[in-house]
Amino acid sequence: MSPEERAAAEATFDLDAESNDCPACGFQVPGGAERCPDCGLRLGPA
Ligand SMILES: [Zn+2]
Repeated sequence: MSPEERAAAEATFDLDAESNDCPACGFQVPGGAERCPDCGLRLGPA
């Protein structure tokens, strides 16, 4: 995997990952959280 591909993969918002970076504030949100604990953005499926 090239560095470019790796960066693209890491940027993908993956709900199955163990944790996600909040797309709004960048906070590392634990997997399974419905909302970002930092800014309150809803992360889970509607
Ligand atoms: Zn957030």
